Amino acid sequence: MPRAVYLDCNATTPLRPEAKSSMLAALDVTGNPSSVHRFGRDARRLVEGARAAVAALAGVAPSWVVFTSGATEANGAVLAGVTADRRLASAVEHDSVLAVTGIERIAVTPAGQVDLRTLDTVLARGSGPAVVSVMAANNETGVIQPMAEVAAIARRHGALVHCDAVQAAGRLALPEAAGCADLITLSAHKLGGPAGVGAVIADPAIAWRPLLRGGGQERRQRAGTEAVALIAGFGAAAAAALGGLDDAGRLAGLRERIERGIRSAAPDAVVYGAGSPRLANTVCVAMPGVPAATQVMAFDLAGIAVSAGSACSSGKVAASHVLAAMGVPAAEAATAIRVSLGWHNDAADADRFVEEWRALHLRTARLAATG
Ligand code: PLP
Repeated sequence: MPRAVYLDCNATTPLRPEAKSSMLAALDVTGNPSSVHRFGRDARRLVEGARAAVAALAGVAPSWVVFTSGATEANGAVLAGVTADRRLASAVEHDSVLAVTGIERIAVTPAGQVDLRTLDTVLARGSGPAVVSVMAANNETGVIQPMAEVAAIARRHGALVHCDAVQAAGRLALPEAAGCADLITLSAHKLGGPAGVGAVIADPAIAWRPLLRGGGQERRQRAGTEAVALIAGFGAAAAAALGGLDDAGRLAGLRERIERGIRSAAPDAVVYGAGSPRLANTVCVAMPGVPAATQVMAFDLAGIAVSAGSACSSGKVAASHVLAAMGVPAAEAATAIRVSLGWHNDAADADRFVEEWRALHLRTARLAATG
């Protein structure tokens, strides 16, 4: 059996060794960070060290970081909790954004970027306080959004800007990719930290109605005893990701290797978002005529982990709202899979994927020819 190849980093990225060792060390620390005794102070030191590391990744002061249980909580808390009469979000946001009550969806272009003219027009239609949510980079296609333009339009209308920077963190320099937003949300497990911890990054002058109440933790914005070991892992992963940002060039080379390999076998294979700036680690590609679920199973049998469009939280493959918003016909979108690379991948992994992709494509073409 060939070695397993994990190419699903936009779903979750393998734990970085730095994160693992700092979590193991943190598990030996007993105190509650809110306790004043020595044990509590030891735990507090771990939380504040991690806060400084996450702040450094975002290019902000540590006081701007509020830890949460992940980006789903962070997105829901800030979007439901900030003072706003209107809540706008691009149509390709993660479900945790689109599920917030009262969200108005803003169309995207066929290339997957938010339609700036539509955003301007929709904002001009109302006068009350508004918040606009646009992600730094898309989880399915890797398409990078024009955040500076989004923020400029939002500011002209007096709206707050929220940026889900989950997929950009550790892959792009965050101050450039999302620094123009008033509120940024992050998740540790997409950048090599543990699942179950994330953060809101915001100037302490910006408050939102907390989702969880009953404790003064995290500047009263998120009640509950901090998950010290997870937060320690997040901090270590953030520091490692910041140090490894220049890995993007190497990953872009692997992505190009994959896309070139696919194109040479199937010139009709479509790579979504290829006309936009994209994350170096993400390829969303259709294999004409082969359902995504069939592809994912075939790759799994070959020891390669990829996903069908977005990760399916229920275990079922749902139609991609991202590809639908880009105008991709449903039947074609149903043949799209996502390959997402990470710090652990190398050229051999890319070549293994291409080899399997070509073999599956050939098998399917032969079957179709023999009818
Ligand atoms: N936002 C984006 C863009 C994501 O890709 C994800 C995870 O899939 C989330 C938010 C949710 O993050 P978490 O798993 O930390 O709740």
